[in-house]
Amino acid sequence: MTSVDHIPETVGELRAGFRTGVLSDVESRRTHLRRLRDLFVEQEDRLIDALVADVGKPRIEAYTTEIAFTINEIDHTLKHLNAWTKAEKVKVPITFKPGKARLQPEPLGTVCIIAPWNYPVQLLFAPLVPALAAGNTAVLKPSEVTPSVAALVEELVPRYFDSSTVAVVNGAVEVTTALLEERFDHIFYTGNGQVGRVVMRAAAEHLTPVTLELGGKSPAIVAADANIDVAAKRIAWAKFLNAGQTCVAPDYVLVEEAAKDQLLAALAEAVTTFYGDDPQQSEDYARIVNERHHDRLMKLLSDGGFDATVFGGTGDRGSRYLAPTVLAGVKPDAAVMADEIFGPILPVLTVGDVGEAIRFVNDREKPLALYAFSNDDDTLEHVVANTSAGGVTLNHAVLHLAVPDLPFGGVGESGTGSYHGKSGFDTFSHFKAVLGKPTRPDPALMYPPYTATKQKIIRKFM
Ligand code: NAD
Repeated sequence: MTSVDHIPETVGELRAGFRTGVLSDVESRRTHLRRLRDLFVEQEDRLIDALVADVGKPRIEAYTTEIAFTINEIDHTLKHLNAWTKAEKVKVPITFKPGKARLQPEPLGTVCIIAPWNYPVQLLFAPLVPALAAGNTAVLKPSEVTPSVAALVEELVPRYFDSSTVAVVNGAVEVTTALLEERFDHIFYTGNGQVGRVVMRAAAEHLTPVTLELGGKSPAIVAADANIDVAAKRIAWAKFLNAGQTCVAPDYVLVEEAAKDQLLAALAEAVTTFYGDDPQQSEDYARIVNERHHDRLMKLLSDGGFDATVFGGTGDRGSRYLAPTVLAGVKPDAAVMADEIFGPILPVLTVGDVGEAIRFVNDREKPLALYAFSNDDDTLEHVVANTSAGGVTLNHAVLHLAVPDLPFGGVGESGTGSYHGKSGFDTFSHFKAVLGKPTRPDPALMYPPYTATKQKIIRKFM
């Protein structure tokens, strides 16, 4: 845990590092990105061990969603860095000719990255990739909810980075509050909307821009004409990955009445195929992060507001196990429909048609993700055109966030700003508007005195 007293010094060093230009040229940024890559390759086993200890992740899921994901982001960035850092030419109107205009990307300065616990490695380091690529120095604040990861990050980062370039601050609310009192040039926060508001308020003190990667209730709409078996498999995979503790997990399902029974049966079959008859014995199924969240999820179940537990519904507090659970006949005012579930509980609600599903979604806050399943492209495009969400995957779930050229972020209550690929580079850059003029010609037209003749000419052109 970082002492609150050390925070000003830590941030001061990063500011000094930025001013001395540690990352001012593209080659030094490449060097630092490669160092981050080395950290991931050389420390893969220890990172995965920490993820298993903190969240009980299956090792292969820890590898794909945290290690490989971040390495891919680094490789994509290294590949495109030259192009991204180049100034972009902009057309100059006739009245300003001769002259050349361009958009010149420049780093913001020293940035703060605050991560949550559900993908504690990826969500800390994937934003660091564009931060470094754009030339910023950065302080990393891992989640205190995943202490093994936080401690490991605190140990490893100083071995790969100088404290003038990347530093780690560890701690809970008190430490983060002190950290947010510092002046940053950008704050990149991933987590819940309540703390998002705290971050935005703190940022306002220094007029610091923020990116808020938040959550919400991401719906999956299933039309009766969808390939129900495939839809069920994909929804079940996306929902029960990391035991439902994924910001873009399908939070609930809206299925057309005609397909409801088939979907419920197919979901049950998918879960049995994935995790066997007793998912508690499966090595491929994660655990709930802590007892507090386990209690919260069990309470959602005991609060009721649904007709049936189709399968699952059981938990073991001691081992933080919660069975993959599907609920049917869920009322819109059930406890499970109030907030983002963030656990392996999937409420299935029935709608008369896709139009009703769209109205249901639009009556609520804008979600981080939205999924629609149908065999009819017009139906899918109708859903896309008539709903708002941070991102969409059609006939699958979660995957849009892994396409490097698709910006990832929320809208409204699910967040503001985005990253991944070029959008991350843009988030951590200022695009400076530059106009260059030659000293000749230097027409007197624009200078006073504004004679009648000059005015006549000016009015002709403007
Ligand atoms: P969390 O409890 O780990 O909190 C996130 C960060 O906020 C931590 O680093 C924590 O130290 C800090 N924090 C907590 N209270 C604070 C306070 N009062 N002041 C300042 N900082 C504080 O994680 P969480 O918020 O429970 O994460 C889960 C949420 O994050 C879900 O809503 C999920 O949807 C969302 N999420 C979003 C994304 C995304 O990319 N959009 C990804 C993962 C999770």
